[in-house]
Amino acid sequence: MTYKIAVFPGDGIGPEIVREATKVLGCLTSISGIRLELESELIGGAAYEQCGEPLPASSLDLARSADAILLGAVGGPQWESLDYALRPERGLLGLRAELDLFSNLRPAVMHSQLVGASTLKPEVVEGLDILIVRELTGGIYFGRPRGIRVLENGEREGFNTLVYRESQIRRIAHSAFRIAMKRNRRVCSVDKANVLECTELWREVMTSTAREYPEIALSHMYVDNAAMQLVRAPKQFDVIVTTNMFGDILSDCAAMLTGSIGMLPSASLDASAKGMYEPIHGSAPDIAGRERANPLATILSAAMLLRYTLGENEAANLIERAVRDALDSGVRTPDIHSPGMLEVGTAQMGDAVVKAMRKIADSP
Ligand code: NAD
Repeated sequence: MTYKIAVFPGDGIGPEIVREATKVLGCLTSISGIRLELESELIGGAAYEQCGEPLPASSLDLARSADAILLGAVGGPQWESLDYALRPERGLLGLRAELDLFSNLRPAVMHSQLVGASTLKPEVVEGLDILIVRELTGGIYFGRPRGIRVLENGEREGFNTLVYRESQIRRIAHSAFRIAMKRNRRVCSVDKANVLECTELWREVMTSTAREYPEIALSHMYVDNAAMQLVRAPKQFDVIVTTNMFGDILSDCAAMLTGSIGMLPSASLDASAKGMYEPIHGSAPDIAGRERANPLATILSAAMLLRYTLGENEAANLIERAVRDALDSGVRTPDIHSPGMLEVGTAQMGDAVVKAMRKIADSP
């Protein structure tokens, strides 16, 4: 079987980091029986420059026809003055909306070699492995009515609507429970049910859906407490499932527990687990084209793609182990560099992962 992967390098460091991830996937093809057909298209600012829009029809067609999508990053200062509809970020949001990618998975894994890079004490973050499942296409970011209106007394009032249908809550609950079944089977649902009726419903639907997963231990936590617990004792969590806005905030907080934005992958899945995989960071225009970008978040996104959409767990494990081995060998891109380590560029880091993969494959 050949899997078709749509590849969108995007802008800034996007092409550099995606180049390394495709190098790793090429190596995987050569050492395993997995056949991957990679096809690239433009998105974001690069697409705007060539086609006048951030998500051309040919890019959307490729995304629709592929089994999975690997994306670098979009955006840059040169496009910030464009009309909202033409900005690079619209390409990304357009893909999420068109493909109904409602389930956003953000792992925060502490690599033992990088414990010193965290702002938290080593004993708090050592061995950390949590996954935040964020609802991505509903909630207050999309609810209507929304806007800014002028009141009778002339004062302006801003308003947004927090709204979730039962079906939206149920499908993100299923997504979180299914993923937790492949992990430690503990799910913490984060809400603000003491204040917001919408999340009271969220809690009810989470609880009723959990009955279909008797092996899952479901707990509930208010979002303010969850924020506190994430920095106090993050290892108490396995899977956290939460709304769009709470997930937006908590996942950035969890990401920083691990110390480096260049290490963290993400996935956005639809109902059949087809997905788009990308690093959590942006296009880093400040270091673009200088071979200083860390490609590991994108390489780990490719590993997630193999695990969550293609079901190729062994291949995903191989890549993740190779990343650990590469770090063990002492190579570091500038963002994760520390004294005594060997500073390398983007391509050299990709090479180190490929070398580690070959070594693992050759070992008896
Ligand atoms: P950013 O994540 O691009 O960069 C923040 C800082 O982290 C910068 O100092 C950058 O050099 C560093 N950094 C990021 N990724 C790195 C990597 N792989 N290796 C080493 N260092 C890395 O965030 P920003 O500067 O706020 O945004 C820059 C552009 O990216 C903006 O146009 C923004 O809209 C866009 N953006 C895109 C996405 C996306 O494509 N998903 C996400 C966030 C921001």
